[in-house]
Amino acid sequence: MREYPCPQCHKPIRWRSDNEFRPFCSVRCQQIDLGAWAAEAYAIAGDEHDNDVSTGVLDPSAED
Ligand SMILES: [Zn+2]
Repeated sequence: MREYPCPQCHKPIRWRSDNEFRPFCSVRCQQIDLGAWAAEAYAIAGDEHDNDVSTGVLDPSAED
């Protein structure tokens, strides 16, 4: 059976069709990855928001 590293912890795991956490080794790694993705998406959204504020204050009263 084919082995591959878990994308999250890099532990060698076997590809199983009944592994509901594919491509991760466990639900923990799956959730870590989803959490990292969400945090990254949130950070990007935050950067865009910061850029909007720094390039032109649209509504100064919102900060008060
Ligand atoms: Zn893992």
